[in-house]
Amino acid sequence: AGGAAAPPPRQCKLDPKSELRVEVPPDAPLRVRLVAGTAEIFGTELPPEGWVPIPPRSKIAIFTWHGATLELDGVTESEYPSEETPMVVYVNTHAILDARRARARAAAAQGGDLEASQGPRVIVAGPTDSGKSTLCKMLLSWAAKLGWKPTYVDLDIGQGSITIPGCISATPIEKPIDIVDGIPLEMPLVYFYGHPTPSINPDVYKVLMKELAKTLERQFSGNAESRAAGMVINTMGWVEGLGYELLLNAIETYKANVLLVLGQEKLWKMLKDAVQSKPNIDVVKLQKSEGVVLRNSKYRQKTRSFRIKEYFYGIANDLAPHSNIVNFSDVSVYRIGGGHQAPRSALPIGAEPVADPTRLVAVNISTDMIHTVLAISYAKEPDEIISSNVAGFIHVTDVDIQRKKLTYIAPCPGDLPSRLLIASSLTWYEA
Ligand code: ADP
Repeated sequence: AGGAAAPPPRQCKLDPKSELRVEVPPDAPLRVRLVAGTAEIFGTELPPEGWVPIPPRSKIAIFTWHGATLELDGVTESEYPSEETPMVVYVNTHAILDARRARARAAAAQGGDLEASQGPRVIVAGPTDSGKSTLCKMLLSWAAKLGWKPTYVDLDIGQGSITIPGCISATPIEKPIDIVDGIPLEMPLVYFYGHPTPSINPDVYKVLMKELAKTLERQFSGNAESRAAGMVINTMGWVEGLGYELLLNAIETYKANVLLVLGQEKLWKMLKDAVQSKPNIDVVKLQKSEGVVLRNSKYRQKTRSFRIKEYFYGIANDLAPHSNIVNFSDVSVYRIGGGHQAPRSALPIGAEPVADPTRLVAVNISTDMIHTVLAISYAKEPDEIISSNVAGFIHVTDVDIQRKKLTYIAPCPGDLPSRLLIASSLTWYEA
């Protein structure tokens, strides 16, 4: 058992408009090379020469429009070609968005108003494992290849594709997304919610969505180019009940004008009915790819953990985080939304206790914080925390109550950029 020898390098010939679906194991390397023709991984072209390392745990499709020969070297959990893909429909969708961008740019050049010069604001919705993040990547990479700089907005706090889970974030995409490095991390705008599910405090989730939208609107109003390029917005896979309500909230908050609904007729119909009074919103049903890999909740939990680990250790485990110690008195830790309301006995007679779900609560540092992630706020004052984005994250590795010291790791050396920290329920255990 175990220790099976790696298979020898092998070639695979793909017909036009087909794809090779590959799952990479967690611990064995795989690399891919284009031998002939052209091919792309989720919208990003494979280089004409040289090996491309495929990160562990990836589930990818190498798609070719005109035919290709590939060479694979390493172990896979599965690899099979398929000719049934929705790629033609997806690229047609891209072409329609592209035309809208061009129209917005032309309007801006002729001094058109904010409305006319606004490119498409696309929301991608659908249940979990319908291929939402993947479609976002493709639409962004295809647009970037044509020279647009669309903004990627990720509202999926369960499986963040820009930064760690528990965040809503945005970043401009200036070139096709790198196959190995993923979404560029130079200038993401990140707001910290701190939990992988919105039900813990939906009001905070809504407030943070609004804050991010406000900041983006400000940026767009001063930048005609990114305004014309528009946004591609990824959403959560929770599309029932509260999840649906938050999706409607996102559509409104980001003034989305194109809704792409993947793989669920019912959701498409519901959204179509919900926005029918608004003539400027197109609701489009798109077929889901059979290649999308289903992930159960345990797998999702694991991926969340890996995303946190990656933040500190790099995708290829090639970064060394820096360990540091601060005195309790050097930092202030807060939690957004306490849920603790004033006890009835403390209120005037007859008054009902009102919980402010977005209230800021100071948190005492305790050993409960070990293994959790804290975000570093850009806020200058505590009451600005909810409206501020975050600079990055630290991972608490030890709390010494007696000596009042907290030990943490951070991706960069040096002092914390701010003393205001936000607590979370996100944990990661070093193996
Ligand atoms: P969602 O965002 O809807 O939860 P994802 O886009 O993250 O779904 O897709 C789930 C998984 O399936 C990801 O690991 C993704 O890389 C993989 N995947 C998507 N499309 C394909 C495909 N055509 N072939 C193989 N794997 C795919």
